[in-house]
Amino acid sequence: MKLLGLILTIVSLLSAFEYGLKPVKVNDKVYCFFGKAEVMDTKNNGNMVNSCFVNTGKSWLVIDSGPTYLYAKEAYSSMNKIKKMPVSHVINTHTHDDHWLGNGYYKSIGATILGSFEFSNLSNDNSPRMQLRISPKVYALTVPTLPTFLISKDEKLRLDSMDVQILHVNYKAHTNSDLLVYIPQIKTIFCGDLIFNDRIPSMRDGDVSGWIKILQHVKEMKLTTVVGGHGDITDSTSADIILGYLTELKAKVQTALKDELEIDEAIDNIKMKKYKNLALFEMMHRQNVEVTFRMLEWENE
Ligand SMILES: [Zn+2]
Repeated sequence: MKLLGLILTIVSLLSAFEYGLKPVKVNDKVYCFFGKAEVMDTKNNGNMVNSCFVNTGKSWLVIDSGPTYLYAKEAYSSMNKIKKMPVSHVINTHTHDDHWLGNGYYKSIGATILGSFEFSNLSNDNSPRMQLRISPKVYALTVPTLPTFLISKDEKLRLDSMDVQILHVNYKAHTNSDLLVYIPQIKTIFCGDLIFNDRIPSMRDGDVSGWIKILQHVKEMKLTTVVGGHGDITDSTSADIILGYLTELKAKVQTALKDELEIDEAIDNIKMKKYKNLALFEMMHRQNVEVTFRMLEWENE
């Protein structure tokens, strides 16, 4: 009986939690859940990332499965109220855990999951950051589940009546595992964390030059709908804030290197106050200057 009591308590705790996810219609075929401009914590429980659904005709294509099993389950259940269809495919835009820890749920309902070959190099030693930073009650059913198909070049899919192109970025940009999902029929591209438009990005795993290069390519494609991994601007201007930030950051760090500033001086001097109203500026900007300084210093040697 004790065991039954324990099971009932766990079930009631699990069923009590809801993220309160609300899908936003982006265009005729696309809905997204937009996360908060925050870092993961026990209040947002990982709802600080975007997850999108594309209606391919008879099924949904999911771009990024979100931070937990419960998140993915709730998102799909809410999409089923819009149109009841199976999820045929999930594409993970890169290896950061807020974008793919929902995979376990989608695998359990039969979806095929695709992601970069770099997933095979993820270490099994560490618990995901998500597990350490959000409520254990919300994380509970999440089992890190890697993509079933790993990609190391551009790929084309035909899903129902829709052509879907996966563009594999073969240099480091936001990470070394970035994929973009391009759907010509609806002039739409999903860029994962190559685009943040409501908060300062983290340069931790990135390369400023590669990141600028791929964003310039996206701008040249002149698309109608451009969706990022964080932030809810989805029109053709979606990449402008981050492209502006990265371009200025790179130029300022290059000048500091030319002027032979020490790294601490560069961090103190490169303020870029124009971006100070973006969320997480205080937390991330100095660190971004430092990472960029070390990277460009190394490239110059
Ligand atoms: Zn990321």
